[in-house]
Amino acid sequence: MATSKRIVLRFPRRLVDRPIVSRLVKDYNLDFNILKASVTPEEEGLLVLEMSGKQDDYDRGIEYLTKTGVHIQSLSQDVTRNEERCTHCGACITVCPAGAFELEPATRRVKFLDKKCIACGLCIKACPPRAMELHF
Ligand code: SF4
Ligand code: SF4
Repeated sequence: MATSKRIVLRFPRRLVDRPIVSRLVKDYNLDFNILKASVTPEEEGLLVLEMSGKQDDYDRGIEYLTKTGVHIQSLSQDVTRNEERCTHCGACITVCPAGAFELEPATRRVKFLDKKCIACGLCIKACPPRAMELHF
């Protein structure tokens, strides 16, 4: 049975230069599309992938990534903003690796572009009034 899922991979600093993702193709027969790649402020590598292949290969590939020390998160998580809590302080703008926050110069309000959000969760701790919420 074939499967295709969108996942977020976080690579600790020590793994950033290693050819981990290419092994998914070579050793596990998986295909992937990179939807987003960036480096977080903590210098972790962050990749959002659409990964597809046979279910068995997919499961083995995920096991390989986990054993290597890559943190995997499913994109079924959803991040929203509680508009009543947001004070438009701007603290989230610099931490977001996906550019999902924008300052509107005219109003000095911070816009949340939820379509860009990759649900990495970094803004949740960074937001002083805890306006960003993670839902499963
Ligand atoms: S850090 Fe929180 S309160 Fe500040 S602009 Fe971002 S969402 Fe709003
Ligand atoms: S969870 Fe927050 S920091 Fe991460 S991509 Fe979404 S808006 Fe940006």
